[in-house]
Amino acid sequence: MKIVVDLTRCQGYAQCAFAAPDVFAIQGDEALLYDSDPDDAQREKIARAAAACPVQAISSTVRTPGTGIRSLERTCPPPALRRR
Ligand code: SF4
Repeated sequence: MKIVVDLTRCQGYAQCAFAAPDVFAIQGDEALLYDSDPDDAQREKIARAAAACPVQAISSTVRTPGTGIRSLERTCPPPALRRR
């Protein structure tokens, strides 16, 4: 699977690092490091990390078995559902 973190939204809250420590890490005060191509076995932890992110900065794509097709797993709520 592939992961993208929108670093313009990321505030370094580190919730993702607690939920999926093998994928996300905070270095220094606020620098987020992450594995952009983690093993599919991390999928559940990554979903928890994305759900825990207070600014919904994490999105991922998954490969459909047998097709090689990747689909986007949106973790960001549509704009109408975001808090203002
Ligand atoms: S939980 Fe969200 S805001 Fe916090 S470090 Fe991770 S991606 Fe950034």
